[in-house]
Amino acid sequence: MHYATIKDCDIANGPGVRVSLFVSGCTHRCKGCFNEVAWDFHYGEPFTEETVQMILKMLEPAHIQGLTLLGGEPFEPENQEPVLELLRAIKMQYPGKSIWAFSGYLFDKDILSGRLGPWEVTKEYLSYLDVLVDGPFVLEKKDLSLRFRGSSNQRIINVPASLKEGKIVLWEDWQGFERGIK
Ligand code: SF4
Repeated sequence: MHYATIKDCDIANGPGVRVSLFVSGCTHRCKGCFNEVAWDFHYGEPFTEETVQMILKMLEPAHIQGLTLLGGEPFEPENQEPVLELLRAIKMQYPGKSIWAFSGYLFDKDILSGRLGPWEVTKEYLSYLDVLVDGPFVLEKKDLSLRFRGSSNQRIINVPASLKEGKIVLWEDWQGFERGIK
């Protein structure tokens, strides 16, 4: 896997101050994509053990709430195993830090179907996620007032609650998060 960027102080892609990893490679090709250069699976830097160690170090300060995965597409079959290794290391070292991911795939129709890779890999990957913002960016549904989403078709999903209940549980509903705000 390659990655485009790592930010060590991101306040736009999840709650609190976060480290964000923009992986390379995306097959969705959404019209109006914010990061077209990262469609190429070989864009940017190779993702290595040194990269994992660098991210672990960035996550160390107490004010860093967690990691956010973006892209590119963190759920492309080619990207799942390297991301999984990172998530394992984070959960072992920082079990209290949250993990968010943004994906153009749909949680129920694409990711849970198991068609994006060996199911054992996808299943363990999902077990480390707190929140998944799913669905492609749809230019016609773009809405700048949305928090953590680019277009209104995307959903902010509470992953552990959804897996437990066997249906989509939205993060805002589960938290009573900012009621009345889109
Ligand atoms: S899923 Fe994200 S990175 Fe991929 S084309 Fe759509 S907006 Fe761009």
